[in-house]
Amino acid sequence: MKVAVVKETAPGERRVALVPETVARLHGAGLDVLIESGAGAGAWFTDASYAESGATIVSRDDLVSQADVILTVTKPDDALLAALRSGQALIGMLNPLADPTLAAGLAARGVTAISLDGLPRTLPKAQSMDALTSQANVAGYKAVLVAASAFGRFFPLLITAAGTARPAKVLVLGTGVAGLQAIGTARRLGAVVSAYDVRPQTKAEVESLGGTFIELTSVGPAAGEGGYARALTEEERQAQQAELTGHIARHDVVITTAQVPGRRPPLLLTDDALKEMAAGSVVVDMGSGPLGGNVAGSVPGETIVTENGVTVIGAGNLPATVPAAASAAYARNISTLLLHMVADGALAIDPADDIQAGVVITHDGTVIHPATAALLADHSAGGTSQ
Ligand code: NAD
Repeated sequence: MKVAVVKETAPGERRVALVPETVARLHGAGLDVLIESGAGAGAWFTDASYAESGATIVSRDDLVSQADVILTVTKPDDALLAALRSGQALIGMLNPLADPTLAAGLAARGVTAISLDGLPRTLPKAQSMDALTSQANVAGYKAVLVAASAFGRFFPLLITAAGTARPAKVLVLGTGVAGLQAIGTARRLGAVVSAYDVRPQTKAEVESLGGTFIELTSVGPAAGEGGYARALTEEERQAQQAELTGHIARHDVVITTAQVPGRRPPLLLTDDALKEMAAGSVVVDMGSGPLGGNVAGSVPGETIVTENGVTVIGAGNLPATVPAAASAAYARNISTLLLHMVADGALAIDPADDIQAGVVITHDGTVIHPATAALLADHSAGGTSQ
């Protein structure tokens, strides 16, 4: 079986689906690995290093014509999608729930689409395949560095002959994978860190990292299914925003990471909250995306300075800005998933397998992933999922 890695083409995307170390692992398991020339360049992995690990370096055209399985980080470009043929498999972070028509198109052409976003994350055996977690870890780390670099003062307490600088006060909103990594990173830089989440069960994790957990009196616990949060009611949302505003105003740096599956990210920092912050404060919105973000007015990948001097950074694709580490982790995730699905040297699709049930989106001309199929049905009936 030939497994191929394409060069990512999305703007700013510097990650690559396999690194040389994982090429050697797949090669050792009896798979042939093809790498598109230059695929690893954005993360400093050369064609020569892939070749030394047992890969064959090929052009995009040769790759598409020879590959049985194509590995990507994110959704491939339209030209690649159009070139895929029946019987080929595509594995990546395809995010089918954001655009179910992609799945419909791939099914129609007989392509087997497999997306790491759908992995059942709480299964212990799936943890080494969990790309959402590995990339959120990278993003949480980088968000703190971005904030520190935009902040005009120090993060740690510094006592020098020229005076004493107090430590920065950092607030992390949303304490899932990215939030916890942000807390740990800000603590390592010496900041005083507080954090809040609607799932109070994260309190112990926050405290174990040296953060102080903030409990709101106006909003109760809001845990949803599968370890995620549920969407708040309008009344809860307004109470949360109002009570958070007082806490936000007492911090120098706020990093927001809140997400609710299948919904637009909750708005946690309103215009009023931004107006209450001191000049020179920094906000990094990791929830920022096409549907909006956790912070009023934030734009993905852009930095805005409010009239009262608060820098609001829409985080954009942070893992792509730490490309070597993010690629190494992603490569371990995707290669472990691939090897889980290979039997006798070929891809063995089995929707009854608990991991495959979450990740296989299309097979044999059909969209078999239940949530994607339901969304498509809703889509063709003219409904909306948000
Ligand atoms: P996520 O990206 O969906 O959300 C980030 C955080 O935002 C969550 O902690 C959520 O509770 C919080 N949030 C949502 N709405 C909010 C609001 N209005 N106000 C404040 N906070 C809000 O979450 P994630 O990082 O992907 O993790 C989700 C869950 O999956 C967590 O319970 C995590 O521990 C769990 N998980 C488990 C495993 C495993 O068992 N191996 C692996 C990864 C993640």
